[in-house]
Amino acid sequence: MEKLTSAVAESEEKPAFVVGERVEKFCVKCQEERGHVIASLTKRGKISRVSCPKCGTLGTFKTGAASGNKRKLDPGAPYDQTRAYRAGQTMVHPTFGQGEVTALIEPLKIDVLFADRIRRLIHAQQANH
Ligand SMILES: [Zn+2]
Repeated sequence: MEKLTSAVAESEEKPAFVVGERVEKFCVKCQEERGHVIASLTKRGKISRVSCPKCGTLGTFKTGAASGNKRKLDPGAPYDQTRAYRAGQTMVHPTFGQGEVTALIEPLKIDVLFADRIRRLIHAQQANH
């Protein structure tokens, strides 16, 4: 049996960010503030690099750089796996909430950026034979 030293571990500051999660950042290439994906972290758990899922630009992330001036996105229609999505389309997923299609991975798979992170969903499924 191993002894857990959870009390000691808890004193360490929890990393606030995780690679793959979403952060808001102004993209100079897209000329808009949009959801970016955390690409790498520093040893201290701070964001070091983020990538724009729309244009693919890898940029640095400055804390507090966000303007707080959020664009109002069209929330989009409810997620429908029989529908064929394109990059840039928005949807509302029953579990994950509002998302934006960032990439088509395979003919039947898409990457969607939700409020917290990117998730892979299926789409263009045939409803009937
Ligand atoms: Zn961009």
